[in-house]
Amino acid sequence: MSRTDFERFKLVNFTETNLTAAELDAIDPLRRFREEFHIPTTDRGEPQVYFVGNSLGLQPVKTAELLNEELENWRRLGVRGHFTGRFPWMPYHEFLTSSMAFLLGARDEEVVMMNSLTANLHLMMASFYRPQGKKRKIMIEGHAFPSDHYAVESQIRWHGLDPADALVVLEPDANAVTLDMDFVAQKIADEADELALVLLPGLQYYTGQVFDIERLTAVAHRHGVTIGFDLAHAAGNLRMQLHDWGPDFAVWCSYKYLNGGPGSVGGCFVHKRHVANRDLPRLAGWWGHDKQSRFRMETVFEPIPTAEGWQLSNPPILSLAAIRASLDVFRRAGGMEPLSQKTQQMTTFFRAQLAEKLAGKITVLTPPGPGCQLSLRVEDPRVSGRIVKEQLDLAGFETDWREPDVIRAAPVPLYNQFAEIERFVNRLVQIFEA
Ligand SMILES: *Cc1c(COP(=O)(O)O)cnc(C)c1O
Repeated sequence: MSRTDFERFKLVNFTETNLTAAELDAIDPLRRFREEFHIPTTDRGEPQVYFVGNSLGLQPVKTAELLNEELENWRRLGVRGHFTGRFPWMPYHEFLTSSMAFLLGARDEEVVMMNSLTANLHLMMASFYRPQGKKRKIMIEGHAFPSDHYAVESQIRWHGLDPADALVVLEPDANAVTLDMDFVAQKIADEADELALVLLPGLQYYTGQVFDIERLTAVAHRHGVTIGFDLAHAAGNLRMQLHDWGPDFAVWCSYKYLNGGPGSVGGCFVHKRHVANRDLPRLAGWWGHDKQSRFRMETVFEPIPTAEGWQLSNPPILSLAAIRASLDVFRRAGGMEPLSQKTQQMTTFFRAQLAEKLAGKITVLTPPGPGCQLSLRVEDPRVSGRIVKEQLDLAGFETDWREPDVIRAAPVPLYNQFAEIERFVNRLVQIFEA
């Protein structure tokens, strides 16, 4: 992408111009990246309008090639593929690290791709949830993703404590659906004496609300509380400066915005201040052991002094190859800066279209912010949200439904277009008219 394209695009003030969707697509500096993805088709053979990159990102065209390369290496080289070939399997995860760190604003030594999100969350809590006496509680949000909630409750029980006592759940005000950041900050400060850990999302999966990682981390640390983030919906979606913002740890998955493929390997961030700390307890495995002496097969654990020291097992190379293909697209697109720019333009356009054509019928639950997902709620009492969602499906508009009443639509800057947003809103209008 050329710098001047990007600058020109940035200068378009979306609230004041009357550019059409087609004109916006024509000046979009990222427009050519759409061709690097396979766009699923409808029964009629037309491309879907795919607004569920927040659930399963699309397949990069390059993925098959990188997977085939490793299948070929396995065929030709057998066990030697661990040490030979263009990208030997033994250090394969390392080939992903700097591209991943770049997207998060992290240092290389703080990042490792391994396991799955929930497994990583448990590993991180093994190290960073250390209840002691009165300081025993974990704070989460009331609408936390179920897996996070189960993981946290089970950790509390694992330590012989009772979630009824040791789980602090943040709930929005009676009439609100999102959490006020002042309120969250105040609660952390108020409860600090009893908090052992705060775990929050970078972007809330249901409402699309972005949490202020920098501010909440600062508050937690000022009060001596450890804080970690679930970045499932933030990685590959938000611009972050994870190292500078300084949370103790973070975890994410790679099959949503990161386009790594169904069930692909997750990620883990351990802040630099902790990576070489041998006093932190951890659940260890051989892949976390010092690389030079790993194969001496001795029994004294020497952790790698980076986030890699939390690895357990040798990772699934085919999944890592798919992630590598995807991270390569992100890198060539210029990383999160241009992507966030387009996200901002797209959501501004999306909100304006909804306000103009569907006022009073659809409300957007998502507060204005840098994420690309808008959570839509049907307000017309005669129309069921679920039926609207089904009608969208039939017409080739892929969104997702989250109980009790939200349609999530996420135009993704790498492969979605302004024209798709316009068609989506026009289709909603037709559905309401019918
Ligand atoms: C998608 C998602 C998960 C999924 O967990 P896996 O371990 O990858 O199955 C967990 N937490 C949040 C917040 C998510 O959005």
